[in-house]
Amino acid sequence: MSSNVPAGSPAKVLLVDDNPANLLALEAVLQDLGAELVRAVSGDQALACTLADDFAAILMDVRMPGLDGFETARLIRSRPRSRTTPILFITASTDSPDEYLEGAYALGAVDFLTKPLHAPVLKGKVSFFIELYRSREELREAERAAVNERAFLATVLDAVQDAIVACDAQGRLTLFNRATRELHGLPAETLPSEPLLPEAWSARYCLLRADRCTPLPPEEAPLMRALAGEPVHNVETCVRAADGSIRTLLANGQPLYDGTGRGTLGAVVSLHDVTSLREATAAREMAVREQARREAAEAAAERLRASEERYRNLFDSMEEGFCVIEVLFDEHGTPNDYLFLEANPTFGRHTGLKDVVGRRMRELVGDIDQSWLDAYGQVARTGQAHRVILRIPRYERYFDVSITPVGGPGSRRVALLGSEVTERVRAEETLRRLAEELAASDQRKTEFLATLAHELRNPLAPLRNGLFVMRQSKDEKARQRTWEMMDRQLGHMVRLIDDLMDIARVSTGKVEIRRARVALQQVVENAVETSHPLLEQSGHSLKLDLPAEPLPMEVDPTRIAQVLSNLLSNAAKYTPARGHIELGARVEGNEVRLWVKDDGIGIQAADLPRIFQMFTQVSRDRQQMTGGLGIGLALVRAIVELHGGRIDAESAGRGAGSTFTVRLPITAPRPREAEEAMPTPGGLNVLVVDDNEDAAESLALILQMDGHVARVAHDGRRALELAQAYEPQVVFLDIGMPGMNGYEVARALREQKPGRQPVLVALTGWGSQEDLARTRAAGFDHHLTKPADIAQVERLLVDLRDGTVGAGDQER
Ligand code: ADP
Repeated sequence: MSSNVPAGSPAKVLLVDDNPANLLALEAVLQDLGAELVRAVSGDQALACTLADDFAAILMDVRMPGLDGFETARLIRSRPRSRTTPILFITASTDSPDEYLEGAYALGAVDFLTKPLHAPVLKGKVSFFIELYRSREELREAERAAVNERAFLATVLDAVQDAIVACDAQGRLTLFNRATRELHGLPAETLPSEPLLPEAWSARYCLLRADRCTPLPPEEAPLMRALAGEPVHNVETCVRAADGSIRTLLANGQPLYDGTGRGTLGAVVSLHDVTSLREATAAREMAVREQARREAAEAAAERLRASEERYRNLFDSMEEGFCVIEVLFDEHGTPNDYLFLEANPTFGRHTGLKDVVGRRMRELVGDIDQSWLDAYGQVARTGQAHRVILRIPRYERYFDVSITPVGGPGSRRVALLGSEVTERVRAEETLRRLAEELAASDQRKTEFLATLAHELRNPLAPLRNGLFVMRQSKDEKARQRTWEMMDRQLGHMVRLIDDLMDIARVSTGKVEIRRARVALQQVVENAVETSHPLLEQSGHSLKLDLPAEPLPMEVDPTRIAQVLSNLLSNAAKYTPARGHIELGARVEGNEVRLWVKDDGIGIQAADLPRIFQMFTQVSRDRQQMTGGLGIGLALVRAIVELHGGRIDAESAGRGAGSTFTVRLPITAPRPREAEEAMPTPGGLNVLVVDDNEDAAESLALILQMDGHVARVAHDGRRALELAQAYEPQVVFLDIGMPGMNGYEVARALREQKPGRQPVLVALTGWGSQEDLARTRAAGFDHHLTKPADIAQVERLLVDLRDGTVGAGDQER
């Protein structure tokens, strides 16, 4: 149904009459009804009007020329637009209505009005139809609006992304939107085709709990909870969708109330699909977890690497040798070899074995000490750690080795951790030896005390006897002899006690050496003088073999005299009567060699090392000997060593005599580092070459006293060796020597080290111009004639040192 009448425009009334006066009268009556009055003066004109417009009512004159009222009404009624328009016929009073009344009503007339028209009745009837028309128009308008609204709502519902579902008061589903249909794969119908009751929904639409697998009981369905008046706000629920996937939905719902707000019409629920959000969140969480897991794994791997590195560093740098081995057993279960699994560098250094890892011990050394194998095998079998001291015979080294099982039961691996204890083992050996020596020395001391008591008591009897004789005897000769005897005995006691005091001082380090510049000959003389009575007593002969020239030395004269007289006394004591004793001295380099030689009882080879020990006495046969305490040689050695010298004894055995040799530095020894080739400031490094030993030694001695370092060679070959070794700055070279002469030595020296050439000084008995030319040709820088004037030599050295004289300034 549609209408051309615009909403709000006034209703129209069509007035049809061929008489304009009648029309005018009608208009006058109806004009204040608020309707628009349309005139038509013929049936044709009325038909045309009804084609163009809708009318609330038509007032039609029955009698009209041309188309009469009835015919016109019939035609109007035949048109769809005007089929229901109410028609009121107006007839004259003369007309008999009965003859056409029936037909008129059949044509749809709603009333007949007879002229003369009664105005209020006409007005009332027309106004009724106007009202009727208006309310019908309003109704039509409302219907149109409702249809539009529905269409709008349906569009909106279908446009939203969320699924929307509604039900009526009984819980029967009444509405699905597009999203709901798509979710469930339903045909495109707004309303559910079958009005399912809530009990059937859950199963029909595959509703699930949030766990995504348990079917949802109907009463828990959000729509039912909304219908029951429960608040449904972001309630999570799940649905198995038409495509089989499980969707997670957040439901929001509420009941629908009727206009009064009391009765429930049903409920509506919107369902928001959060599946992809949840999946994304889950995926993100998973990714975060995975990342965290990976990071943790990486951190662990790095920690592991770091700890391995630390272990490796420790392993490589530790001072203990470390290795892990696998013990190999033979078919009888006896350990017979082992395989190296790991070893650190120290292990290689300890054992001298290289690249051991992956190799068997037998491959490496062939012969393994079975006791080691047994020790390792035992630890591998029992799992009990063990510790042993192992000796590596090849290197004579000792190791303290901890043998520790590695791995659980059944593992044949053991770790060896070894530290070198060679020093400790040696120290222990030394300690043991010292203890033994101490015991021996204790024994000697005990013997010494017995001897001492004996030696001290021995003179007492003759002294007491002497005192008795002195008191009783008037015989002057007897008294004189007794006096001499007592003096001798007392002297002997005094010597014993002096020796005792000395050895006590030496033992406690209280003996001091007071050096003085003395001639050796003087010291010897003093010693001989002291020993003279003893020598004479036994009728020994003494031969002295000393340098002719006075030999100056820096020594403690009293102590060195004591040394020599001690040796002479021993020679006298241990040589049968009328023996031959010799005391000699020679300069050797920076030293003086002194010897005391006898042809006495000699010393057995086995005793030689012991005789310098304190309280040692080799010979127990003292019948014919002057008593001794066994401390003399100990004292001698101590004094010699305090001088920086040394003493040795030689003997070819019993009865073959003995020789004691003492070597003493001529000058007081300089501090150690200065000793080797280091002249005092301003001093020079000098080599003296002369086959005349005394001449060479004495010149060297003088040079040393001047602060130079002087070495001596007695032939050309030795001269070249020393020159090579010590690089002297100056060489004093004798010309006439057996073997290589001075010229040859000079030439060889010039060839020896082209870079660092010494100043060569010829020392010769010949001084002619010819000789000078010859020395110059041989490469000498200076020429001195023998015997050289010491002052001249000293001046030359000073000049050389100061650079005022150089190579080639020959002089005489
Ligand atoms: P003693 O007081 O016994 O002489 P020494 O220390 O002087 O003590 O000598 C130690 C030992 O060395 C002597 O007991 C002696 O056996 C031996 N001895 C020392 N000098 C000689 C020597 N010239 N000839 C043989 N034996 C000697």
